[in-house]
Amino acid sequence: MTLAIVGRPNVGKSTLFNRLVGKRLALVDDMPGVTRDRREGEGRLGDLTFRVVDTAGLEDAAGGSLEARMRQQTEAAIAAADVVLFMIDARAGLTADDERFAALTRKSGRPVVLLANKAESKAGITAASEAYSLGLGDPLPISSEHGEGLGDLYDALVPYF
Ligand code: GDP
Ligand code: MG
Repeated sequence: MTLAIVGRPNVGKSTLFNRLVGKRLALVDDMPGVTRDRREGEGRLGDLTFRVVDTAGLEDAAGGSLEARMRQQTEAAIAAADVVLFMIDARAGLTADDERFAALTRKSGRPVVLLANKAESKAGITAASEAYSLGLGDPLPISSEHGEGLGDLYDALVPYF
């Protein structure tokens, strides 16, 4: 079972990755332009164990525009995933980049769990309601930094195991 954490920069993907993986980082192929900025590890949530891929969105050796490289890396991660964790920033509201990454995700046809991050202490609930417009289902408010909402994430993932 492989999960990919996908979304525009700065929404908190790596923070969630670190929380799920802790120190169980996998060795990844260090070939320039292939996996350089992609981190994979053995994630755990309750009694679930899975492979999880963090997408950084930046690859300095791949060539092409920044946007093209981000797109390529994200597409590869989505293609390798059984379930996509699509993350938005519940405090910031939706941006054009969110829409672009969401379009890639929808196109893949992969199952998606939509995470509205930075929603600690009920912040960002208004912004999270915008998230329905992404067409990726019901947003699940979480806080990767504070570890809130992870029980709901567990419940959302269980059916795929
Ligand atoms: P990425 O670019 O999507 O990987 O985002 P990062 O994980 O690097 O986080 C971007 C910023 O958001 C950092 O300053 C984090 O500390 C912050 N951040 C991540 N998760 C949360 C959260 O749950 N709540 C708040 N308030 N900030 C967060
Ligand atoms: Mg990151």
